[in-house]
Amino acid sequence: MSISFTNPLSLPVLGFCAYSGTGKTTLLKKLIPELNRRGVRMAVVKHAHHNFDVDIPGKDSYEMRKAGAKQMLVASHVRWALMTEDAREGDPELPHLLKQLDTDNIDIVLVEGFKKLTLPKIELHRAAHGKPFIYQQDDNIQAIACCDDTVLPAELTRLDINNVEQIADYVQQYISQWRPQITHIPLAEVPACELDSSSSLTVRQGIDHILNQVQPITATDAVSLDQLDNRVLAADAISPINVPQQNNSAMDGYGFAFSDPLPTEFTLVGEVLAGHSYDKQVLAGEAVRIMTGAPVPAGVDTVQPRELAHEQAGKVSLEGKIKQGQNVRQAGEDIAKGAAAINQGQRIGVAAQGLLASLGMAQFDVYRRPKVAVFSSGDEVCQPGEALKSSCIFDANRYSIKAMLRRLGAEVIDLGIIEDSEAALAQALLTGASQADMVISSGGVSVGDADYIKTALAKVGEINFWRINMRPGRPLAFGKINDCLFFGLPGNPVAVMVSLLQFVQPALRKLAGEQAWQPQLIAAIADQPLRSRSGRTEFIRGIYHLGQDGRVHVRSTGAQGSGMLSSMVQANCLIVIADDNANINAGEIAYIQPFADLV
Ligand code: AMP
Ligand code: MG
Repeated sequence: MSISFTNPLSLPVLGFCAYSGTGKTTLLKKLIPELNRRGVRMAVVKHAHHNFDVDIPGKDSYEMRKAGAKQMLVASHVRWALMTEDAREGDPELPHLLKQLDTDNIDIVLVEGFKKLTLPKIELHRAAHGKPFIYQQDDNIQAIACCDDTVLPAELTRLDINNVEQIADYVQQYISQWRPQITHIPLAEVPACELDSSSSLTVRQGIDHILNQVQPITATDAVSLDQLDNRVLAADAISPINVPQQNNSAMDGYGFAFSDPLPTEFTLVGEVLAGHSYDKQVLAGEAVRIMTGAPVPAGVDTVQPRELAHEQAGKVSLEGKIKQGQNVRQAGEDIAKGAAAINQGQRIGVAAQGLLASLGMAQFDVYRRPKVAVFSSGDEVCQPGEALKSSCIFDANRYSIKAMLRRLGAEVIDLGIIEDSEAALAQALLTGASQADMVISSGGVSVGDADYIKTALAKVGEINFWRINMRPGRPLAFGKINDCLFFGLPGNPVAVMVSLLQFVQPALRKLAGEQAWQPQLIAAIADQPLRSRSGRTEFIRGIYHLGQDGRVHVRSTGAQGSGMLSSMVQANCLIVIADDNANINAGEIAYIQPFADLV
């Protein structure tokens, strides 16, 4: 019988299991020094007999604990131990124990025992013992360390139980390949798969399918430095100069030619200020007074700071240890002439603008900005600023959609509010498609009676209706009207924003020519239990903050109704509970997507 285990840490946990007498501890006693020698830092957790004790009767700490201290911490300057009385029914809980470790300085946790948990493990097996294999009952076995004569199915990873180096190689490879348990994140493309219109998809599948349909814009605009903000470069920005332009001093001090030994005294021959130069060769035994940023004259390769030099009557003597080349910045050490300072496909932010300006560049080729047409649908939807009719709501979606699109650098075409009629919707779709690279609507994609988008779309383009296994934002329509991409987002305002962030954002960035964009995910500590239904990705509106322990923590904004925009206003992130990670307990790691830059 196996017991479900979820790793609460953001680093790998690897078990070692075997029948007793196989030599688990013997192997670990050899493996640990081998891994240490390779610089792998580890913690070990071991399951012990119920009445084990690390303390000795008669010691003060033992007696105080026996006298009733629930926790006893003994410490010296080399080691400390915390003993905690935690009598409980059944086995100790590994996730709880793992959370007690200080994980800042370790790369992996090795676990001995806890055989029944669904924990990735290496099985140790010695044929001579005549014991059965564990892997036959446990599909968490990653590799089997056994003897030469053991017969194993070819698909299992086989290690030599007597070859500690080989097992250490495996552990190192395991660490480097390990990823937190989260499924929908990387945006790598997969081949297009045929999806029927009624299918139910994971978030990952939805994103992959969408990205496969997006052709980046290739048309370019020539823009000046001042128009470059948030545009995507269509060609590498090649530096026309070295930065810095010349070798220059990193200190106020004295410049001279290094030699070994150095003269006890130099003759001061001149002074170089920033923006000026000293045009003569500085000879052996000579020095110049030089300021920070001033070009280093010919003959000078080393600068001694002023504090470590004594100048008197035209002579300078130096003190302390001096290394050849110290305090001289080399020409091109930041950016070399001819090198790409910023790559094609990069969206230009504030720092990149400063950098390109520092290279003296003034004119750039960028991709044309995507044009996106937006409309809202529904007879109940009213224009803000007008009187609210009874049984109606103001149009929130079009404004959050437009604002987010603009932050993503798109040019927005506003098609207003379209009534619930097939003809009006079909007309809006065609108008949008004729002017834009992408059309986005909200509302009308669920199964309500007045949801005409489907039939309208069927007339003008090629559209799929998906149920995405996520909350909020389950219904999503996606397709094409000629070459124009179409997103039919749900009606509920929070679902709209979540769908924009998860699906429209990657598509729009790809369309805009941006390369290598990935959503940002950060591990945070859940301040409360967070629940999701298995098989569904939950996007909980969250507030992350720095805890008193110096780590990022996150809590939910509270009620999660998909119409409650106020929850989105309070939130600064989405907490992503992936479809393979049903429950997160308080104190465990939850992954968050901060969205402050877009929302
Ligand atoms: P629908 O998918 O059209 O059934 O809409 C689902 C819910 O979202 C309904 O309660 C709608 O009233 C609401 N809704 C639809 N469009 C908008 C909009 N533009 N702004 C705010 N709420 C909307
Ligand atoms: Mg509607």
